[in-house]
Amino acid sequence: MKGQRLYVVRPFDPWRRGSLCTCPFKYTVNPYTGCGHRCLYCYASSYIRDFFNPRPKERLLERAARDLARIPPGSIVNVSSSSDPYTPPEEKLGLTRRLLELLAGKFVVEIVTKSSLVARDVDLLSKARSVVSVTITTLDASLAGRLEPGAPPPRERLRAMEKLSAAGVPVVLRLDPILPWLTDTWENIWGVVEAAAEAGAKHVVSSVYKAKPDNLARLLREFPDLADRYRELYLRRGSRIHGYWYAPTQYRRRVLGMAREAAHRMGLTFATCREGDAGHIDPGVNCDGTHLALRRGSSETRMSSSDVG
Ligand code: SF4
Repeated sequence: MKGQRLYVVRPFDPWRRGSLCTCPFKYTVNPYTGCGHRCLYCYASSYIRDFFNPRPKERLLERAARDLARIPPGSIVNVSSSSDPYTPPEEKLGLTRRLLELLAGKFVVEIVTKSSLVARDVDLLSKARSVVSVTITTLDASLAGRLEPGAPPPRERLRAMEKLSAAGVPVVLRLDPILPWLTDTWENIWGVVEAAAEAGAKHVVSSVYKAKPDNLARLLREFPDLADRYRELYLRRGSRIHGYWYAPTQYRRRVLGMAREAAHRMGLTFATCREGDAGHIDPGVNCDGTHLALRRGSSETRMSSSDVG
C-alpha cells in the first residue's frame, strides 16, 4: 500500500495532523464537490469555488474502487467530510448509495449528514459496520430554515434517525455548530438532545461555531442585529487558530458544558469536535462516534461465534 497514490479515498487529515483534531485515523471520501444545503455557517465553502452548486465527482466509483483496493480492509471510511453525501442531487443520482455498495462488508462506514435521505439506504447501512451522524442545530423549523435553507427540516432528520436506529444502525447526534445568541440556550440544547435520544441516538458530538470571513458574512447578512456582538465575541475577545476565529474559551466551556450535561442526563456519551482546552471526550469513546460501529462489528462477531454449537 505504501507509495501507492490515492485519488478520492484520502486519509482524513484536517489541518495536517493539527492537535485539535481528536478523530481516530480514518479515510474520507466525498461523492460530491460542493453542497446544496447552503448552511450559513458552512466551513467547507471557503475552500471550494462555487461551493453551493453541488456536482458529482467525476468517475467517482471507478476511482474509489481502485483506492479501496489499496487501503487496509476494515479501515474506517468517512462519507463525507467536506460536503454532505446526501446533498439534494443524491436523490436522483444515487452516487452515495453506489459508493456504499462498494464499502459495505469490507470497511467501517461513518456517514455524516443533515439529510433525511440517508434513511433510504437503511438496507445497506444495517448490513454494514456503520454509524450515521445526523446534524441538528435546533428543533425550531423556522430558524433551521434560515440557517440551513437547503436541508430538510429538523423533524424529518429525527424521523430518519428513528428509522435507522430501529433497524439496528447506531446513530449519533451532531449538535454542531452551536451558534451564539441563536442556538446556545439550555432550552435549545436540551430540546435537541432529548429529541435525538428519543429517536435512538447513542452519542453526541458538539462544537461551537468558528468564524471564517465568508461564513461570518453570510450569518451577519441574515442576522444583522448580531453583527456587533459577533464581532466583539470573535474578532476582539476570541482567538485565531488555523485560520478560524474561535469564541473565547470560557464561553465555549460554558456552552459545551450544557451540551454535555444534556447528553449525560439522557444517558448518551458525549464528545466535542476541535475544541482544544474547552473540549471534552468521555472515556472509552471516539469523538466522532465511530466506536459504535467498531463495537457493533465485534459484538456481532461474538454473537455469531457463540451461536455456532
Ligand atoms: S450540509 Fe455541511 S457541507 Fe453542506 S452546506 Fe451545510 S455545513 Fe456545508
